[in-house]
Amino acid sequence: MTNEDLLKLAMDLIAIDTTNPPGTQQEAVTYLKEYLEKRGVECSVETAGETPSLFAMIRRSPSTSKLCWIGHWDVVPSGPLDAWTITPPFVPVIRDEHLYGRGACDMKTGVAAAIAAALEWAEDPETSGGTLVLAILADEECGGVLGGEPFLPRYHKEFQFDYGLVGEPTGFDLKTARRGACWGTINFSGIQAHAARPDEGDNPIHKMGVAVVAMSNMVFTYDTSDPAPPTIAVTTARAGNKDNIIPHEATIGFDIRTAPSQSLKSIRSDLIETLQKAGLIMDTDYKLDLNWLADPYATDHPCFSQICSNAIRSVTGRTPSLCAKGGTSDGRFLAALGVPVLEVGLENTTLHKVNECCRVDSLISLKQIYRKIFTTLL
Ligand SMILES: [Zn+2]
Repeated sequence: MTNEDLLKLAMDLIAIDTTNPPGTQQEAVTYLKEYLEKRGVECSVETAGETPSLFAMIRRSPSTSKLCWIGHWDVVPSGPLDAWTITPPFVPVIRDEHLYGRGACDMKTGVAAAIAAALEWAEDPETSGGTLVLAILADEECGGVLGGEPFLPRYHKEFQFDYGLVGEPTGFDLKTARRGACWGTINFSGIQAHAARPDEGDNPIHKMGVAVVAMSNMVFTYDTSDPAPPTIAVTTARAGNKDNIIPHEATIGFDIRTAPSQSLKSIRSDLIETLQKAGLIMDTDYKLDLNWLADPYATDHPCFSQICSNAIRSVTGRTPSLCAKGGTSDGRFLAALGVPVLEVGLENTTLHKVNECCRVDSLISLKQIYRKIFTTLL
């Protein structure tokens, strides 16, 4: 597959609006299925609700190692269209050696690079064994409930994967672990009153302010050997609807990225203790609700890591660092089943932003890296 073919595939994918939500579009999967089947690759479309995920399977005999490459076809919303100053989000262009458009780094380009590498690997007479499955999933940007969560376990049951490789943007570093995610809300109770008579009321916004300051400085209980420390961010605040009324309640929402040694129980007690030190008593001043969204994982597989590091170094000339930053990925659905999962992908400086882009030569490098990993592992 030529570099022009690779670029065209990436641009064709970017041109299909797959914004999630709603994330129910069929066009990208239909396009990819036709593209792959025309080139002799067996494909299966799995649907959850109205939402399709595509599995492309290359089984070679004798089947030795089995690798599942994981990517997604959905993209996040564009944001303000007039802020896209280079090109509209679904009109891909190349300017100054960069490819622009929504999905240019997260991650239509990663999907195109993996497909190109897989086709080259499949056609290479020098390689003989191994099985490669490309999981091009729906719903990654909304939690994977309609993509990775139902389908990766099912395909693992059928294939018994030895390795998982995620194509999310990593800046050509090697991601060996992912933190988990836990969302929460705190509802502060108060007594509504005239703002001119605050002593007759109980102001929940004042409690909310105390809590936000305490939470932004809080220290979690976790193991310092965890691959990355936990973080907390207060993300929503709602209270009041009139300037001269003390409201009767206030609510904040927050997002915690969890380390492997944390549990729902330890997070809950850390939060209660932090708020107690700030003078707020649970059930009297506030109610706490926590929702565990995603498990963290860490992969310790020196051989797999070495193969990926060597591939990155031989293509880019730079030794990748091992990292565990960022949010969650669909890799957790395989990691939870005991499959070693690593991640390598493009530069990650513009993901989810306006004017999303990647360097054209990065896209070509990524294809070469995947090709080397497929050849060495399988
Ligand atoms: Zn992504």
